[in-house]
Amino acid sequence: MSVPLLAPTAQRPVVVIGAGPAGLAAARALSARGIPYVQIERHSDVGGIWDMDNPGSPMYRSAHFISSRDKSGFFDYPMPSHFADYPSREQILTYTRSFAEHYGLRDGIRFETTVQSVTQDERSGEWTVTTDRGEIAASAVICCTGVTWDPQVPEVEGTFDGEIRHSVTYRDASEFRGKRVLIVGLGNSGADIACDAAQNADRAFISTRRGYHFVPKHLLGTPSDQTEWLPIWGERLLYSALAPLVIGDVRRWGLPKPDHKLFETHPLINTQLLHHLQHGDITAKPGISRFDENGVFFTDGSHEDLDLVLFATGYNMSIPYVPQDYLEWKGGRPAMYLNAIAARPGLFGISYIEVNSSAYTLFDRIAHLIASHLDDVRRRPSRARRFRRMVRTEKPDLTGGIRFVGSDRHATYVEVRAYKRELRRVARRMGWEQLTPGTLAESPVATAGALR
Ligand SMILES: Cc1cc2nc3c(=O)[nH]c(=O)nc-3n(C[C@H](O)[C@H](O)[C@H](O)COP(=O)(O)OP(=O)(O)OC[C@H]3O[C@@H](n4cnc5c(N)ncnc54)[C@H](O)[C@@H]3O)c2cc1C
Repeated sequence: MSVPLLAPTAQRPVVVIGAGPAGLAAARALSARGIPYVQIERHSDVGGIWDMDNPGSPMYRSAHFISSRDKSGFFDYPMPSHFADYPSREQILTYTRSFAEHYGLRDGIRFETTVQSVTQDERSGEWTVTTDRGEIAASAVICCTGVTWDPQVPEVEGTFDGEIRHSVTYRDASEFRGKRVLIVGLGNSGADIACDAAQNADRAFISTRRGYHFVPKHLLGTPSDQTEWLPIWGERLLYSALAPLVIGDVRRWGLPKPDHKLFETHPLINTQLLHHLQHGDITAKPGISRFDENGVFFTDGSHEDLDLVLFATGYNMSIPYVPQDYLEWKGGRPAMYLNAIAARPGLFGISYIEVNSSAYTLFDRIAHLIASHLDDVRRRPSRARRFRRMVRTEKPDLTGGIRFVGSDRHATYVEVRAYKRELRRVARRMGWEQLTPGTLAESPVATAGALR
């Protein structure tokens, strides 16, 4: 059966689920086009995971953005220049909240309301959004409930008498004091948390199966992501040439040599960890082979006595309120056109994407694309149907020629330049307005300059 497209109206608005950065980007894009919507947020305020008081947030006190201030803001709403090059968790939260204020988005949010399920009547196309405070009839649903709350923990043989946790529960470096601690996994969060352990634990270890490329945070005194204007091959050439000079051979500090080329996995933008390895504050270990009651055996046969094992092994992408068969799931990731548009009409998701860049501007670009389509559903149904055909039949290559490693995490990984190019191409083919300064704002360039 082909499910009809339903135009957003005041009686059947679009429902945006979640009021973190992605949900706020969706709300701004819809309101810029005058598309009726309601936003549902289970917490008492906006900001998503950057609010450590939001239950389930994986945020820890020492967290900073790993993408830089000037590359990481919402579109047309730059972060204030007095923020740090790599803003702190508090700065990101303040900035995100000021964005919601500036665009008057709070009024459209129903706080302290949790979406429990969404279902679609396949004959009419209407959605029923069931919350703990009642039901809403909707024309479309945009899922913006985040991707860093459902912990992925590998199975390890054996029994350990100490504490085993996932990094989603980690908050503060004081948790490491007086303990022998192992951090498992070397993503950017794992590397950050390992630095906290290096400075606070009695003994600190980091375990990784795979070697990663390190990229310094600054180059010639400016944040290294400022080189994103280079083509990907140019950036690769630059950092591959610099790495032997600036970083050297990481095997000297016990880390494995990367088994892949730069940018085929997410690089580690953390030279502080190298500093701690170089000073003996933390020791690198290979993968875990099994637990015993006192600690861990590693794949090289060595053993460490431990008090705490903290898995920083990432997250499953979960959308628990959407019936499993509404989305095609592959390797724990929802397969969607441009990582945002489900095959089922009226179902969208923002932030189900892993990318070699900052996220907020991309959220805005995706939100603008979704809003352009929903505007067509109300005003130009034949063009909306044309877009639906593209969604059903096309699978654009978003890798930019990079052969990402074959892990689940990299199954939805996209190369930012290729992704932006494709979004522009789709807008051109559909005759939609491109996202340019002023598209989403009444004043051409809004700014968060008044923030402290
Ligand atoms: C340590 C760390 C560092 C990071 N650094 C960067 C960086 O440097 N640059 C960058 O661009 N990104 C970074 N990110 C990525 C980060 O995920 C984004 O910055 C952003 O917070 C994602 O926004 P979101 O709105 O998709 O999800 P979230 O921030 O997770 O927000 C989701 C919202 O949905 C709500 N919600 C969930 N379920 C329901 C429900 N059933 N009903 C109603 N509401 C619900 C939650 O309460 C929450 O408010 C980092 C992430 C982490 C963990």
